[in-house]
Amino acid sequence: MPKEVVLTGLRTNGAYHLGNYIGGILPILKLIQDNQASSYQINLFAPDLHSFTTPTNLDKLNQQTLENLKLFVACGVPLDDNNVNLYRQSYISAHSELTWILSNFTSWGEMSRMTEFKDKINQFKSGNQITVGLFSYPILMAADILLYDATWIPVGEDQRQHLEFCRNLAQRFNQRFKKDIFKIPADFNKQQDWLKRFEAPRIRSLKHPDKKMSKSIADPKGTIMLSDTSEEIAQKITSAQTDNLASIDYDWQNQPGITNLLSILAYLNSKSLSDIKQNWRGQSDYSNLKQAVIQSVQATLNEIQNSLKSVSDTVVLNHLKNREVKLNKIANQKLQQIQKIIGLR
Ligand code: ATP
Ligand code: MG
Repeated sequence: MPKEVVLTGLRTNGAYHLGNYIGGILPILKLIQDNQASSYQINLFAPDLHSFTTPTNLDKLNQQTLENLKLFVACGVPLDDNNVNLYRQSYISAHSELTWILSNFTSWGEMSRMTEFKDKINQFKSGNQITVGLFSYPILMAADILLYDATWIPVGEDQRQHLEFCRNLAQRFNQRFKKDIFKIPADFNKQQDWLKRFEAPRIRSLKHPDKKMSKSIADPKGTIMLSDTSEEIAQKITSAQTDNLASIDYDWQNQPGITNLLSILAYLNSKSLSDIKQNWRGQSDYSNLKQAVIQSVQATLNEIQNSLKSVSDTVVLNHLKNREVKLNKIANQKLQQIQKIIGLR
């Protein structure tokens, strides 16, 4: 029996923030810490082709991709484990070809319903920045997943709709060709159960708790970067927007700023929602809560930053080359099956 595939990618259009860590990286670290890595094949990749969907500094893209991959290693992803594959999407060309094929099995109306696209285009100053790539990138994401028969896709809440789209597309394709060509990834709620998450994470901006923390929005005071110093972390969290209710509760509706801080605390300390609620509910001093969050974030990021110093470019690049050879074989095999079924071969 082949091992179930766990797959996740984080765009390389910029450096990572705390939301990326909690939504995309932490679940993989949990598997490794719980000694479960050997039960799965873990594909953690740099989706560098996704970087173009929002304005990106192309001079830095190649270096940023390597820096981001090094960060995974600094976080605790082992490169010498045969079950772990770090790779760059653009080095495996089957991703692009499958995307084109799947684009022709996706209706324009279906793509138009993606709320992430609508959210993103509102950030742009000019219509010229809105590309077809941004519109259709969920199809590339579906190809990223379906090429490797992945079951578990640890992502943040912002990717719920895209994962559901991927499932629908795969089911439709299988039905159309009367073959189980694609493995259907688990549905979003099942994924949260498997990840033992009390909800899918959507870490908010510290300054605008109605919006998610994001890489492509200029919001330096609301975004904790994984490279932030202890002082920057303390400053940002101390000035995080809260409310004047003077009573702590986990309530996204009425206390989004406070709830955001509580959720960060819960994820970083692997606490259940009920533990966190029990510890903090009704307390009136917000500075105590902020202090606890500062300590947790500083401890987490200090450790990563220290480890990063000893991650070598050469070791990471060697791993990438090795795994990209291996995954090109797997991906090309899958692509050939699809080419046959749709009449190209
Ligand atoms: P961008 O704004 O450029 O799209 P991003 O911050 O959304 O950047 P992505 O690279 O698109 O980052 O997403 C990488 C992973 O991080 C995905 O799994 C996504 O769900 C997760 N993620 C992104 N932002 C958050 C957040 N605020 N809270 C939790 N998870 C998040
Ligand atoms: Mg995003």
